[in-house]
Amino acid sequence: MSKLPTVILKPGKDARIASGYLWVFSGDIARLDGHFEDGGIVDVRSPRGTWLGRGFINSRSALAVRVLTTQPESIDDGFWRRRVSAALAYRQRFVHGTTASRLIYSEGDFLPGLIVDRYGDVLAMQTLALGMDQRKAMLADLLMELAAPAAIYERNDASVRRLEGLESRSGWLRGEGPSAVEIAEGGARFIVELEGGQKTGFYLDQRENRLAMAPYVPGAEVLDVFCYTGAFAVHAALAGARSVTAIDSSADAVAGARNAAILNQVEDRCEFIEANAFDALRALVAEKAAYDTVILDPPPFAPTKESVERAAAGYKEINLRALRLLRPGGILVTCSCSYHVGEALLLSIVAAAAADAHRRVRLIESRGQARDHPVHPAMPETQYLTCLVLEGG
Ligand code: SAH
Repeated sequence: MSKLPTVILKPGKDARIASGYLWVFSGDIARLDGHFEDGGIVDVRSPRGTWLGRGFINSRSALAVRVLTTQPESIDDGFWRRRVSAALAYRQRFVHGTTASRLIYSEGDFLPGLIVDRYGDVLAMQTLALGMDQRKAMLADLLMELAAPAAIYERNDASVRRLEGLESRSGWLRGEGPSAVEIAEGGARFIVELEGGQKTGFYLDQRENRLAMAPYVPGAEVLDVFCYTGAFAVHAALAGARSVTAIDSSADAVAGARNAAILNQVEDRCEFIEANAFDALRALVAEKAAYDTVILDPPPFAPTKESVERAAAGYKEINLRALRLLRPGGILVTCSCSYHVGEALLLSIVAAAAADAHRRVRLIESRGQARDHPVHPAMPETQYLTCLVLEGG
């Protein structure tokens, strides 16, 4: 292979890469040998010259190099075919009972910056790193061949693209179809809005947690806070909840949730409220409402390390109010999708909230993201979703 431009790391910055971490930060680089182009492939070496891996470079990003391989292999057509095929094969083993799933989860599938979700026969795709974005057409062709969708929708309006110097854009990349797609998840059906929905349209990461709620809800009065398009709410109603009250601040989300309840013929047992969850929870506590199951699935309160303290106060507030609304013996399902607020911290926040509420709680289950979002053990950032199921005494 012709010699690639080479990034030489600063002393002490090589150990993490050698142990499997995939991001080289711009501040980790001592020197760059050879001519490189942003988005192109570079070798990464330790200060002593030991070869560590290769990946694509973006000198404009704080994530200067995203490592693609630590094996002596070329980043050629065969490489991409092997990686995409492996991601698809993994799902064959672990993802069943749904027509919507994540086919490629970025670093979790050793494909940094690439997200591909399947909704029925359509794929939604995001290229969140410059190197991936430059290879978008090749990847789309490969996906058409290997995953055989009817069409691919590009959902490249995520704000993180700005950090890579990439513009925002959305639209059909291959084929064309309606922007609203019906999916089946377990026994429930939902409409996913490819164009305007949150994330790529649906919170696929919570799928297994939604299905895991079935034993807890028969006969229950359920409160689903931060409900988006009603996925937890509809699953709870289908699993036998007596009633479901669901809250979200987004008008589009609440409209979608109402439609989902109708689509699943559970609208008579579901009530959807468009409100700020903090206000709504306070009001429900004031009117002495009570529920058998409370689900909290807030947006990431702590997007950065610096915001953890403030975020913790937010998590504590909603958990405290949820516990005040929970009947004795009731079930609290509390989530964090902030990587910076993981299992241990969320559990300690719930413990503090329980102490303030004079409630005893017990942890029944500690869950994470669905299996189509595999965690890369050397990249803790890939493990971002925590879902705790507790009993409130
Ligand atoms: N449980 C959902 C996903 C929730 S994502 C599912 O399984 O599909 C978080 C949701 O919180 C989003 O729908 C967002 O619109 C909503 N949200 C964000 N801030 C809010 C607030 N202050 N009050 C109520 N909802 C809020």
